[in-house]
Amino acid sequence: MENSIELTSTQLSRLQRLAIAPSQLQFSTRIVLEREQQHYLSRVLRLNAGDRFISMDGQGHWWLAQLSASLDSATILQPIHVERELPIDVTLIVALPKTGFDDIVRQTTELGVATLMPTITERTLLKPSAQKLTRWRRIAKEAAEQSERLFVPTIVDPISFDKAVNETRQLWRRYICLARGEGTHLLDRLAEIPADTPNRATGTIAIAIGPEGGWTAREIDTAIAARFEPVSLGRRILRTLTAPMAALSVAAAAFERKIGN
Ligand code: SAM
Repeated sequence: MENSIELTSTQLSRLQRLAIAPSQLQFSTRIVLEREQQHYLSRVLRLNAGDRFISMDGQGHWWLAQLSASLDSATILQPIHVERELPIDVTLIVALPKTGFDDIVRQTTELGVATLMPTITERTLLKPSAQKLTRWRRIAKEAAEQSERLFVPTIVDPISFDKAVNETRQLWRRYICLARGEGTHLLDRLAEIPADTPNRATGTIAIAIGPEGGWTAREIDTAIAARFEPVSLGRRILRTLTAPMAALSVAAAAFERKIGN
């Protein structure tokens, strides 16, 4: 690799970006471009041999890359370090709404969600098809690129609420959103977490959002027995489509402010 190039944020913002699969990387020095990507870079973005662009793998890496003379590959010039992720991983357990989960995927990705668990609760009316999952993962990838995220969020296969409770039992803190003011505000709960806590590896929290018809008493009891903390998102009753965005905005405000960012 050549000597490291200092890039200002303005220079970075002017470079075109290309998402690649990790398998396209060769020896950490070269990117093999697929036909569609060659077309996109040379015909759509009108880059020429020798032009630079940013390449991102959706798994935490950005590189400054340079298009080869043959336009079918690119040389990696250097890694690029950017801060785009929330300082803590947030897993959202979201009861599947009748419609609108596409928007939840898109917008929670923009807001920094790490993992989405589409969940079937006792009052969930929808049983999603396999095609839906493929579609949600594509939407998450596009939204991650658009919002310049380092990571594409993981969207797990839809699971029952009981399973979601069980599968998140190792997480560090878990919260269940209750619509009728039974809990402390999520912001107050998150503010209790010291500023020097957890990095991505150890600090995953989970936030559960219920269905249009609300949680059943049994689900609330199950969650609380499993040490979920009941929390409020404010005085108004939010739709299942709105509550995930509100919860993530609160988490972003709580954690990004703590690092002065
Ligand atoms: N009729 C339902 C009830 O009384 O619980 C309303 C459910 S609300 C449309 C859907 C979900 O969004 C709730 O189960 C809860 O998880 C979340 N939610 C909505 N407003 C909230 C609020 N103000 N505080 C916390 N959670 C809220």
